[in-house]
Amino acid sequence: MSTAFIALGSNLCKPVSQVEKALCAIDKHYLIKLEKVSAFYSSPAIGPGVQPSYCNAVAQISTLLSSEKLLKVLQKVEENQGRQRERKWAARTIDLDILMYDQLSSTCRQLLLPHPRMHKRAFVLKPLSDLLTENFVLRNESISQLLDKCRDKSKVKLIRRYDLKARRSF
Ligand code: ATP
Ligand code: CA
Ligand code: CA
Repeated sequence: MSTAFIALGSNLCKPVSQVEKALCAIDKHYLIKLEKVSAFYSSPAIGPGVQPSYCNAVAQISTLLSSEKLLKVLQKVEENQGRQRERKWAARTIDLDILMYDQLSSTCRQLLLPHPRMHKRAFVLKPLSDLLTENFVLRNESISQLLDKCRDKSKVKLIRRYDLKARRSF
């Protein structure tokens, strides 16, 4: 059994509902178990042009899928929720990134692990810090040390919590 962390982000078509919907879809897969879900946060979009704010969260799962198969499942969930692949970092109904998969390190372009930009993104680090302790180290630093370096950290705001049993945010 492997442990993976998935970043969820949406800034189109009721972002909170999109994140909830993706969490349900991920959990429904017979080889994936949702173990923990962070609170939901709002963050300003970093993409091109004027875009609505994002709803972001991170989920910890256990899975019997390989990292490549997990990515395929996540891409299918994105597709089912109407994700369009337009310009890089364009607004999207749902974005599902694998942040980490066990201790795996991958330099394959299709699946880079750990996610190469996660340590610079407050909208990933804040929700991730809900799930991990100070003992966790990424690139020789704790999550709070990494967060301290993020210029945009104060703009990531808690909006809702997630009830894992009820499978919904409140
Ligand atoms: P960013 O990766 O900077 O967050 P993005 O999520 O908007 O950007 P996408 O258009 O969703 O980028 O994905 C582009 C490609 O990234 C995908 O086709 C996928 O194969 C690849 N990719 C590489 N590493 C990962 C990863 N760890 N998780 C998800 N996709 C990845
Ligand atoms: Ca992303
Ligand atoms: Ca992505």
